[in-house]
Amino acid sequence: MPKSEKESKEDVDKEISELNKKIEVCKLCRLCEGRTKAVPGSGPIHNLDLMLVGEGPGRNEDLQGEPFVGAGGKLLDSILSLAGLGRSQVFITNVVKCRPPENRKPFEDEVGICTSNYLERQIDLLKPKLICTLGATALEYFTGEKSMGAARGKLTKTKNGVPLLPTYHPAAILRNPSLKPLLEEDVRKIHSILKQLKEEKQQDLGKFLATS
Ligand code: URA
Repeated sequence: MPKSEKESKEDVDKEISELNKKIEVCKLCRLCEGRTKAVPGSGPIHNLDLMLVGEGPGRNEDLQGEPFVGAGGKLLDSILSLAGLGRSQVFITNVVKCRPPENRKPFEDEVGICTSNYLERQIDLLKPKLICTLGATALEYFTGEKSMGAARGKLTKTKNGVPLLPTYHPAAILRNPSLKPLLEEDVRKIHSILKQLKEEKQQDLGKFLATS
């Protein structure tokens, strides 16, 4: 490995580990008051293909400090396997890193504080080839769009130009199993998009775009 590449990998390791430490002791918003453990996120931090962004930790995640370890996480694992993806290949995180009381939706100020201090930095450092939002809170944070119906499964970009594919939150599928085929369809689409991004066939991505 060229020396500069090695150094930059080491820089990313160091910065991510410092960021995680900051998240673990963060007191920038009221969500710290009820947390057991903050949940920075988990997964590979080099050559990252896919970052999944959910809403915020639930009860199990708060206890274990890991994202998507409850029933929704099991469903997520089984659906990811349709795209030939295991958890160890995907970085999974949330819009807010501490559990909101009674799993309420995070407030706008909590989202603003947490994303500007942590999620944006994670994206800058990890440079995922594709971000997939899970559910309405992450969709709204990235796109301003409140309705999942029109946005899901359509490729768009973050304000910094990272390809973004919105889909349902696994909890929505647990509540309404008739949506599962749509989430499966989106995960197959993730597989195709990643294949094309890796082969640098950006020109072939048009058929996935929100405007198409
Ligand atoms: N729901 C989320 O949005 N994120 C988790 O980590 C767990 C449940």
